[in-house]
Amino acid sequence: MPSLAHDIATRLASIRERIARAAERSGRAADQVRLIAVSKTFPPDAVRAAYEAGQMDFGENKVQEGLQKIEQTRDLPLTWHLIGHLQSNKAKKAATTFPVIHAVDSPELLRLLDRAAAAAGAKPRLLVQVDLAGETTKHGARPDEVRAIFDEAAGCTAVTLEGLMLLPPFAENPEDVRPWFRQLRELAATLVADGVPATMVRELSMGMSHDFEVAIEEGATMVRVGTAIFGER
Ligand SMILES: *Cc1c(COP(=O)(O)O)cnc(C)c1O
Repeated sequence: MPSLAHDIATRLASIRERIARAAERSGRAADQVRLIAVSKTFPPDAVRAAYEAGQMDFGENKVQEGLQKIEQTRDLPLTWHLIGHLQSNKAKKAATTFPVIHAVDSPELLRLLDRAAAAAGAKPRLLVQVDLAGETTKHGARPDEVRAIFDEAAGCTAVTLEGLMLLPPFAENPEDVRPWFRQLRELAATLVADGVPATMVRELSMGMSHDFEVAIEEGATMVRVGTAIFGER
C-alpha cells in the first residue's frame, strides 16, 4: 500500500476508536456521531485513500475547491459537506452541489439557498452556523439572530434545517473550548423550548482535530476533522 493511503487509513482507524469512546462517555453509540473528513487543500487522491478506508463524509470550506473535488471524485458515492462561510453570490452553486451545508447565517441566505435548490430540484440539508463568542473575524449568526432563521424555514420548500454548527474561538487546551460546545447544545434546547421542532436542531456540528472528543462529550453529532486524518496543511 502506498504510504499516503496507509497513513490515512491508520489515522482514520484511531480517530474512529476515539470517537467511539467519547460517544460512550456521552451515553451514546459510536454511530450517533458522524465523522466528516475535512479534505480542504488536499488532493483527490487523499479523498480516495480515505474512501478506501471506509470514509464516506467529506468536508470542504470553499465552494470552488469543493466543486472541483466533487467533480474529480464523481465516481465515488461520497457525501459532501460545505463547512465554511458561504457568500450569497455562491449560494446557487452551493445549493445545487453540496447535499449538506453547515453555513447558514441569515434568513436571507436561507431563502436564497431554498430558491436555488427548488429551481434545481435539489434538497440540501442545512445547519445554522452560530457565532457564540461574538468574534468579528468569524462568520455565523449571533445567538439572538438564530430564531429568525428558523422562522424563515417555515416558508422553505426545498431545503431542510437540521441543526447548528459552531466554530469556537481557538484554545490550546480543549477543556477551554468545552463551555462553547455546551452553550451550543443549550442553545438548541432553548430553541426547542421556544417551539422550534426538535428535528430542526437535532444535529450539532462541532469539534475539530484537537477537540473533537470534548465536543462529543458535550453532544456533537457531527465532528469535522482535517489535520488529524490528512496531516498538516
Ligand atoms: C478546516 C476546518 C475544520 C478542520 O480543522 P482541523 O483542525 O484540520 O481538524 C473544521 N471546521 C471548519 C469550519 C474548517 O474550516
